[in-house]
Amino acid sequence: MEHVNCPFCYSKDVGKIGTNQFYCWNCFFEYSVRNNVITLYDIDEEGQLTALEKIEQ
Ligand SMILES: [Zn+2]
Repeated sequence: MEHVNCPFCYSKDVGKIGTNQFYCWNCFFEYSVRNNVITLYDIDEEGQLTALEKIEQ
């Protein structure tokens, strides 16, 4: 099963950008889903990903 819905806004307008990594075009969050743990990322000016928080489901 693919993870298709954004866990934050529940939009289906989510693109897969890598293994277990997704980007929501509705709320502009990038996140990863692994073992039912959602990690939210911020992208800084240099394009570096910073993990903001983990959400246990
Ligand atoms: Zn969203």
